[in-house]
Amino acid sequence: MDLPNLSIASLGGTVSMQARVFGEGVVPTVSGATLLASVPELRTLARVTVETLQLLPSASLSFEHLLSVLRWANTQIELGAVAVVLTQGTDTLEESAAFFDLLWDHDEPLVLTGAMRSAAQTGADGPGNLLDACQVGLAESSWRRGVQVVMNGQIHSAQAVRKTDSMALQAFSSPVVGPAGLLLEGDVHYFHPPRQRHVLPLPQRSTHKVALLQASLSADSLLLENVLALGYDGLMIAGFGAGHVSETWAGKIDAIARKIPVIVATRCDCGPTARSTYGFKGGEMDLAKRGASMAGFVCPRKSRILLWLLLGCQRQDDLARYLRLLQY
Ligand code: ASP
Repeated sequence: MDLPNLSIASLGGTVSMQARVFGEGVVPTVSGATLLASVPELRTLARVTVETLQLLPSASLSFEHLLSVLRWANTQIELGAVAVVLTQGTDTLEESAAFFDLLWDHDEPLVLTGAMRSAAQTGADGPGNLLDACQVGLAESSWRRGVQVVMNGQIHSAQAVRKTDSMALQAFSSPVVGPAGLLLEGDVHYFHPPRQRHVLPLPQRSTHKVALLQASLSADSLLLENVLALGYDGLMIAGFGAGHVSETWAGKIDAIARKIPVIVATRCDCGPTARSTYGFKGGEMDLAKRGASMAGFVCPRKSRILLWLLLGCQRQDDLARYLRLLQY
């Protein structure tokens, strides 16, 4: 039988981790090829190419790493792969997924997965997640959906998914909208048809910086005051509640927003920023008047990625439009 070509790359993370020395904790050591060997069924579903592109804890992945992974993934599609699957650490999976989704210019699926239990642990979830991710990649119903995250039998769209539990097997969820689909008895089920996608041009530079500051009770404003002096090109604020900051912070926003784009998202785990509810100093209406863009449903981390990518291709003037396009 003529099997489809499927390309898999591993970047590291718990899915690739094992203890080198007993008692010293797990570190990324397991290659993509070894991971693949733990899922023998895959050989009956596809002709698989596997590469180890990185062996890093996902906290140490950078946008430069992701851009080089993207170049590799684009080449795989050009060479005839019907899908690309990436394994990486779960700590930053939601950010990589959003990053790739904004740049993935193919109908073919790009699927990300990882594991909550390391490779040598009893009940390791990596092999099952990898098989699920490949099945999602190989399903025709995954086409024209951009990037999907597959974990623990669920499919999540890249822009909605968040890591919402630090240790549980069920670590990922998509607040407000729920998962995009499920794997049931090896079949891939999506709950809705694909949404229209909005792909950005590749960044022409990667040295620019977007700061992310989280509002917290009685916080000083030293970092905020120095954002421009420190050379940041954009500022992302994870605000209180529906997108709010203190009066002190609010007073600093105008001057910053005159120079660089400022986005305010909610630091809450679920829900959007408001637009026309609160009129106090530091509330969303006030911040919008001071020049900040409100992120709506887009979480602080994904808003920062959007801004970084827009700055990278000189499209920062399109920020409000892209934030609108990413709402539910
Ligand atoms: N705990 C993480 C994981 O699940 C470690 C990492 O993100 O690299 O993979």
